[in-house]
Amino acid sequence: MDITNLTATEIAAKARGGELTPGEVVNAFRRRVDAYDAAVGAFLCLNERENDHKKEGPLAGVPVAVKDNICTDWLPTTAASRVIENYRPPYNATVVKRLLAAGAYVVGKTNLDEFAMGSSTEYSAFFPARNPHDLTRSPGGSSGGSAAAVCAGFAPVALGSDTGGSIRQPAAMCGVVGLKPTYGRVSRYGLIAFAPSFDQIGPLARTVKDAALILKVIAGHDRYEATSSRREVPDYVAGLERDHGPFKVGLIDEFFGDDVAPGVRAATEEALEGLRKMGHAVERTTIPSAAWALPTYFVTACGETYSNLARYQGVLFGPRKANYDGPADMVAKTRARGFGGEVRRRLAAGAYVLSVGYRDRYYAKAQTIRQHMRAQFAAAFGEFDFLVSPVSPFTAFELNTRNLDPQLMYLADIFTSLANLVGIPALSMPCGFDEKGLPVALQVMAAPWDEERLLAVAHRLELELALPRDVVTPKPP
Ligand code: GLN
Repeated sequence: MDITNLTATEIAAKARGGELTPGEVVNAFRRRVDAYDAAVGAFLCLNERENDHKKEGPLAGVPVAVKDNICTDWLPTTAASRVIENYRPPYNATVVKRLLAAGAYVVGKTNLDEFAMGSSTEYSAFFPARNPHDLTRSPGGSSGGSAAAVCAGFAPVALGSDTGGSIRQPAAMCGVVGLKPTYGRVSRYGLIAFAPSFDQIGPLARTVKDAALILKVIAGHDRYEATSSRREVPDYVAGLERDHGPFKVGLIDEFFGDDVAPGVRAATEEALEGLRKMGHAVERTTIPSAAWALPTYFVTACGETYSNLARYQGVLFGPRKANYDGPADMVAKTRARGFGGEVRRRLAAGAYVLSVGYRDRYYAKAQTIRQHMRAQFAAAFGEFDFLVSPVSPFTAFELNTRNLDPQLMYLADIFTSLANLVGIPALSMPCGFDEKGLPVALQVMAAPWDEERLLAVAHRLELELALPRDVVTPKPP
């Protein structure tokens, strides 16, 4: 038996039944990391602590990779930024506490774009991550390390964070499942903030069932996080067998235009055909404000970033160097040394959209558009159970291409940021391969708090499509 090819669900069952010891499991994954991660670059640091292997709980013995913008009190948490490269948080994020209490083992902290700003993991201050399907390509981002880790079999499941697409887009590029939950479903306590009105933590996994298993553990109210909901957490795993429809599914027209690559279009159509075979009705529909998603997202997210990153000034956070001339110079020097180019670009844009005289023209207008979007989605979910689109107009791209032009990089989120703007749950699931053999993914969106049915329909479609779910062994280019 190849332990690293098992799902989290299978590992937990075998660990509880005594068929596998948690130590064996951890060692098997560790050997794979040691063999292949030098080529992939999924991890920024590995857990060397031996004593937290457990054989009880829903995640007994399950290794989980955690994105390095989620706080761990025994491992550094860098957000892939020089400005906090030596930061060791004094507490665990709520999601980490819940994973550990459920019996999971944290394998290590995964690579990301600095502060989760980016779509390729090339903006990591340390090194880029690579796509296990083709090491010359990006795994997507910003949770590229988490997606690559799951894809390559370094861990059966991982946590990512999604502000504008950062769980779904890398999941799509690597051919794994990724879920951005409803805003407020999962506590953000201990997640290093990027744009807090969008940020949400969620699972990456090789099956929908594993994603359901992780969501069930991490979701729910947290008294340390005011936007976390008090709504009851359903049993998402049991829910997979519950509601089978038939459902009415809407394909968003604005997200299925000429910019969609032919290979992505073909695989998406296959998935829609799969839904029809299962008895669901699939119709085209329109969300007119969808065309505004990207600019609305960037204006708002940059504005929020500008105020959130103010804490990295060399006093509370960030390395303060000895030679400076007064407080302003100290802050400027800390930031100039600590922040990479993309972060600085966003801070400049954020300062601009919030400044007196421009605020109404940009930030306030973006807020108004966001309200329109919410209304249009509410109307759409009155008619449809689910809305679908491709996750990305293109498949995994080569390293050192899009990072040369910020505009091209931003286009990676053209279909994903809308779900963050309106706070709805959205899932990315593999639906085929393009002509180069690279994974293509379908995005399935549901009304707020409808994760249970969202996971159930995705689980059924996954069975219908029957794509390979084996771990991918990276080959030297
Ligand atoms: N790629 C998007 C950005 O650069 C989204 C990032 C994210 O979801 N964290 O802002």
